[in-house]
Amino acid sequence: MKIHEYQAKEILRSFGVITPQGMACFNADEAVAAAEKMGGDTWVVKAQIYAGGRGKGGGVKIARSLEDVRQLAGAMLNMRLITHQTGPEGQPVHRLFIEEGVPIGKEYYVGMVVDRRQQRVCLMASSEGGMDIEQVAAATPEKIHKIYINPMTGLQADEAQDMAQKIGIPEFCWPQVAALMQALYQAFDATDASLLEINPLALTTSNQVIALDAKMNFDDNALFRHPEITALRDLDEEDPVEVEASKHDLSYIALDGNIGCLVNGAGLAMATMDIIKLYGGNPANFLDVGGGATTEKVTEAFKLMLRNPKLQAILVNIFGGIMKCDVIAQGVVTAAREVKLAVPLVVRLEGTNVDIGKQILADSGLTIISADNMADAAMKVVTAARAHSTGVTNH
Ligand code: GDP
Ligand code: MN
Repeated sequence: MKIHEYQAKEILRSFGVITPQGMACFNADEAVAAAEKMGGDTWVVKAQIYAGGRGKGGGVKIARSLEDVRQLAGAMLNMRLITHQTGPEGQPVHRLFIEEGVPIGKEYYVGMVVDRRQQRVCLMASSEGGMDIEQVAAATPEKIHKIYINPMTGLQADEAQDMAQKIGIPEFCWPQVAALMQALYQAFDATDASLLEINPLALTTSNQVIALDAKMNFDDNALFRHPEITALRDLDEEDPVEVEASKHDLSYIALDGNIGCLVNGAGLAMATMDIIKLYGGNPANFLDVGGGATTEKVTEAFKLMLRNPKLQAILVNIFGGIMKCDVIAQGVVTAAREVKLAVPLVVRLEGTNVDIGKQILADSGLTIISADNMADAAMKVVTAARAHSTGVTNH
């Protein structure tokens, strides 16, 4: 799960990380009132979307008067902000963050991710902070330093200090930066984060170390331990189809191909996508209906897939272990009728009551292409999608 910058900063402040003072706003009047309340003569107006690269896309602007704040806030709200992380369609801006302006001396980069291979949290830091960290990682990876943190001891002061030195922090600031990195690790660990990024970590002209930007993602599987983080979820920022799916307890991830997949079990769903690829097709989604799919759930799953205008065919791949094939067949028939399915449907069933299941499909009167195994199913759905997209349908 992702959260907004202003929310991440609030969490980090509670762990002792220094950030500029700021206020979240939903309209230009609130933005002006926030700037007035904070005082000073420079403010930063920042679009709050779940994507980075805002600075380059026009989502971070410096205001030098309250009139500037009003104008910038007005222009930024409801704009579709396009950054290298949003895709060409951009992301509409519904929230702003107004911060006091900070005079930057130098910008550094500090990040943390879970490294699965090392089974540890990796602390990454670089002297090359600011807006081009992706380019630094690609062109000069040696400028990004890494430490794998021992979970038994946490990030030690000497390790953190060593990192501060490596990225060229002036010596008198090492203790300050080391304490900040330790606080970041504590926040990461305590909140079950999966990613934390401070870019830039700024050294101000008055030699204060301050987190100017903050990004935090959390491990969805640990959210049950953090209701206060779950409550921060902003559904406006998420893919509406994925939000709808989660309401029905379906795991759905949109992809950019044209073959919809409806599968029970995440592993089988992955294998299904692989084999579609193997036969030259492209999956339109990952969709795991889980072990206890009902007719209602299968119908919702069909509806989700059909929202995708690129969809050219659907492959239902079910292994009836706990779930019985006749139940799923009934669900598929009911769902296909309800949604008036107009794309080819390939069904591969295997397992408990498979014969009854196949009979239900055959008796339904619907044009369902039956497949005997996964390779057969993949071949048939790839062919059907191709034929449907060129208008040569066989039904
Ligand atoms: P991102 O582009 O989405 O990563 O957004 P950031 O929050 O990192 O902002 C982009 C850039 O704006 C930063 O790298 C800074 O150079 C600049 N910036 C952000 N806040 C301030 C500020 O308070 N003062 C000044 N001078 N620049 C800022
Ligand atoms: Mn940034």
